[in-house]
This record gives sequence, structure tokens and C-alpha cells, in this order.
Amino acid sequence: MKKVVKFGGSSLASAEQFRKAADIIHADKERRYVVPSAPGKRFPADTKVTDMLYSCYHLAEEGQDYAGELKEIEARYQEIIDGLGLSLSLKEEFETIHKQFQEKAGENYAASRGEYLNSIIMAAFLGYEFIDAAQVIRFDENGDFDPEVTNQILGERLKGMEHAVIPGFYGAFADGRVKTFSRGGSDITGSIVARAVRADVYENWTDVSGFLVADPRIIENPEAIETITYKELRELSYMGAGVFHEDAIFPVRREGIPINIRNTNKPENAGTWIVESTCQKSRYVITGIAGKKGFCSVNIEKAMMNSEIGFGRKVLQAFEDYGISFEHVPSGIDTMTIFVHQDEFIDKEQKVVSAIHRLADPDSIDIEADLALVAVVGRGMKSTRGTAGRIFSALAHANVNVKMIDQGSSELNIIIGVANDDFETAIKAVYDIFVVSQL
Ligand code: ASP
Repeated sequence: MKKVVKFGGSSLASAEQFRKAADIIHADKERRYVVPSAPGKRFPADTKVTDMLYSCYHLAEEGQDYAGELKEIEARYQEIIDGLGLSLSLKEEFETIHKQFQEKAGENYAASRGEYLNSIIMAAFLGYEFIDAAQVIRFDENGDFDPEVTNQILGERLKGMEHAVIPGFYGAFADGRVKTFSRGGSDITGSIVARAVRADVYENWTDVSGFLVADPRIIENPEAIETITYKELRELSYMGAGVFHEDAIFPVRREGIPINIRNTNKPENAGTWIVESTCQKSRYVITGIAGKKGFCSVNIEKAMMNSEIGFGRKVLQAFEDYGISFEHVPSGIDTMTIFVHQDEFIDKEQKVVSAIHRLADPDSIDIEADLALVAVVGRGMKSTRGTAGRIFSALAHANVNVKMIDQGSSELNIIIGVANDDFETAIKAVYDIFVVSQL
């Protein structure tokens, strides 16, 4: 058995956290490949090292004095090194970084140093080999991650290697220039490494005990999800459930490798399993609830729309022409509604409206703002009657007016449009009816 373990920033923010991570690694000899993030926050008001690096580099780029900020970053690492009792010195590394900043090596390079340096410390602490991600994680000339070339190089490099530490968050172009993933991207690196070594499990260690059924900022102490499928997770992450980077699913998904989200501060908890498919029922009919505010709907009416072939294409063309992506398109006989992100749409709204008039010649267009979408997700809904009924009666009891309903044909989710102001009430109502009432 082989396990890849990724530790998030808060799991490696201090020497104390490093020790917890090392204890976890040593507790299971199958935990052979380690992917660290950069040091995160030690306390709520703290700053992540990645953010410090971005701001320090921006000073350098503007020709301002950045020496003080760089010293502060160095101090963050020194505190960890001292706390772990290591004799390691990062002096030369910081001289190189200083030089690279002067030469304007770019913000990708700057941000990547967070994981790079933390991984050097982790490798020294564990006595494992350090592999620079710039040598094994490859981006193509368009700046996109290159999965096949990476898998080849990384697989080759790790073959026969008992242990290794590989920094998260970045890789490089073929010419060696460093490129990072989007924020939170160390999750992706962990997944890439798991694929390359054909791991049995990809463990993702963070500061919560897995995925929660609902957002803890809305529901007090929500239940944790035991098992969730890749597809369910994708629906929930897309709708705003944090914890795990959306793109991190793809590499392991190809190999059917399960992901286990765990809590570094409570390693005794089983966490959440993310799997391709399972015959395990989730504890409740629904697996999770998530949602986002800040949508608006563009309602288009045209008599006899139902018999006009190509109407939908023309309407969507207007959005495409202005680079606006749509979220949902519920339609009726003579109406079609397009849900878009309000902040993307607001500046272009009148242009889009006139484009719709020009292209599709509708009778009227009506825009409604400040809407939220709530996604109720669950593989169990397919085989359970009455789920939609329960959702809508719960919402009615909570006095929430439902503005839109969209159930995908996979029956994996039901999306409900409500006013922004009803968002929290709607989530509470759905949580109560499916979870609280079953406890
Ligand atoms: N350190 C990076 C960030 O803060 C990547 C990560 O932690 O996954 O976004």
C-alpha cells in the first residue's frame, strides 16, 4: 500500500503543527510521499506566507524597499526551524530569492517559494528526499498544466523511491520558468503525485474533520459527511463549499484513487472519503447543501417561442459575444431565463440586452437582481421519493419564496433560486428537514 499525504497551510504554520504532521506520517509506514503547503495562519489574524510573498514581490516590482518584508518571511521559517531543533540554514535560499526579486522573476516564482522552503524544512525534519516541483510538474506553453508529460516525468522520478517530499502549488514550463496553480493549488499537486505513484489513498490533511453537510457559518456545528462521490463533491465545491480545490479531483479520478480529507488537529476522526462510486448510502437522503449569492436572472419572453427553432442559440449567442458565462437556463413555453453572475454581468447588461433584441427579437426582457442559488446535492435522491416535495414544503414553512427550480437529469442535485436575503433561511430550512429531524 502507498499513501500520498498532503498537508495544508494551517497544518504546517508552526513547529508545533509540523510535529503533529510528522507524527501522523510516522504513525503509518504507508504514508510515503508528502506534499506540503506554505505556512498558513497560526491564529485568525495572522497572514499566510503566500500572501506575504505576493505583497513583498509587488514592492520589489514597483522598485520599493522590500527588504523588511522579506526578513519577516525569513523569520516565519526560522521560527519553525528553531522550534523543530533543526540545524538547517535557509540563508543561501533567501539570498537567491532576494536576487530573483531584483531581477523581477515574476509573481509566480515569488509565491511558489512558500511551498518550496516549507518542503525543504519538512524533508530535513523527516529525513526524506526533497524533490523540487519545478523539475517534475510541467505546464505547457499556453500556461496549462500538462498532465501526461507530468505523469511521465514524475512517475519516472518517484519509481523505486521509498519516500519523498514534493512541494505543492507549483511546477514549471519546459524552460524552467516557475508557474503556480490557482490559490489553494497544493491540493492539485497532492492529487498529481497520487496518480503518478498509483497510490491507494490520497490523504488530504487540513484543519477541519472533512466536508460538512452545510456551511458552518450558517449552520452551527453541522454534521460531517462520511462519504461523498467525486460528482457530488464537484457540485458542492462549484457552489462554494471550500476545503478542497475543485481541480484536484481530476488526476486521482482517472485512476479511481479515493481521497480522504482528515484533520491534523484531530487525527482520530475518520474524516470524509471522496470516492468514484459507492453503494454506501449517505446518512441522510441528501449529502450536502451549498450555495452562492450574487446572481441575476434575465427573463426573456416571446410569444410562440416554443416553435421557433434556434431561439435559444441566438439568446445565448448574445451572452457569449460579451464573454459572460451562464449558470442555469430554465425555460417555459414562451419564456427563457438565463442566470448569470451579477458582478460579471452588471457592466455589460445593456449591451447584452440590445444584442438579445437584435439577434432574437423577443417581446420583452426583464432583469431581476440579488438572487442566490442553493444546491441540494445527494446521490440518494435518485432512489428516494418525495425529496423535492420535502424541500419545497420546508421552504414554504420558512416563508422563503422559490424563484427558480432546476433538477439535473442525473437527479444528483436540485438547484433552487431564492432572493439573496432568503439565502441563509433557505439553507437552514433544508438542513433542518433532512438532517436535524433525522438525528
Ligand atoms: N499556499 C498556496 C495558497 O495559499 C497554495 C495552497 O496552500 O494550497 O493558496
